[in-house]
Amino acid sequence: MHAMVLNKIGAPLEWTELADRHPSPGEIRLKVSVCGVCRTDLHVLDGELPNPQLPIIPGHEIVGRIDALGSNVSDLQLGDRVGVPWLGHTCGVCPYCVAQRENLCDRPLFTGYTRDGGFATEVIADARFAFPLGEVGSDMSLAPLLCAGLIGWRALRSAGEGKNLGLYGFGAAAHILAQVAKWQGRSVFAFTRPGDIATQNFAMSLGAIWAGGSDEMPPEPLDAAIIFATVGDLVPVALRAVRKGGRVVCAGIHMSDIPSFAYASLWEERQILSVANLTRQDGIDFLRLVPQIGIVTQTTSYPLQQANQALADLRAGKFNGAAVLVT
Ligand SMILES: [Zn+2]
Ligand SMILES: [Zn+2]
Repeated sequence: MHAMVLNKIGAPLEWTELADRHPSPGEIRLKVSVCGVCRTDLHVLDGELPNPQLPIIPGHEIVGRIDALGSNVSDLQLGDRVGVPWLGHTCGVCPYCVAQRENLCDRPLFTGYTRDGGFATEVIADARFAFPLGEVGSDMSLAPLLCAGLIGWRALRSAGEGKNLGLYGFGAAAHILAQVAKWQGRSVFAFTRPGDIATQNFAMSLGAIWAGGSDEMPPEPLDAAIIFATVGDLVPVALRAVRKGGRVVCAGIHMSDIPSFAYASLWEERQILSVANLTRQDGIDFLRLVPQIGIVTQTTSYPLQQANQALADLRAGKFNGAAVLVT
């Protein structure tokens, strides 16, 4: 197999030939077709997440077909198309796992961070954490759903039922979530970098009813806001944009420090919360809805060997939607 390997924090990924791997009991091996590129990959590369298992193969929006089965795998078959997400393994016995909150597991493994991911021609996955994808939709269009879509979905549920929804940072996750929220009958207000008219137009094309800079107030108060941007300064900004009792959901795995702000911004039962990882149930619920919603993902493809370019372009905001590596 070949892979783009992170050997050292801050260094470019290196194209590497590795010995073929074989699935252990309970595992599957996929021939990777495509793998989405996520901002979390940048956090891994930059050393912003603690203790990555170096050397590591990043990538956690994997679509591929099973080409080897370990023992004790009963509900998946050779040739099945499956998706492998960020949550790669949980312990099953800690208090969080037992309480159906496996996203907070005390001893998890995360794909592309603490177990090898999909910037590779092959990947080994825990069969219980792979989602059957069926045959509807292209591999390319499905890849961004596996993290941007899933984490977005979990964030949307945490945001509550309110109609007016603000999305701060209009990248891969928001471009999917705007379509979901519109389908649910919500009004989407999209916030981009100030002056980023191209992304504001992109948001409007996906059904947002208003788009503006993050330095602007929405034309009406928000019931909830979800922050996908990694900018802590946006937390007090979003708090001022939500109504009494409104919520601000921080959906990123990493964010710059949140500046201090007046208590008046939080007063009147406004809430700030974060969303961490996903549960398998989130994936099942969301992927079941995808065909009904008719989500269209906008993707920019790169050959696997150009993963460093894809990551650089993501960092620079050079494309709308999501980047996907093609094996
Ligand atoms: Zn656990
Ligand atoms: Zn991700």
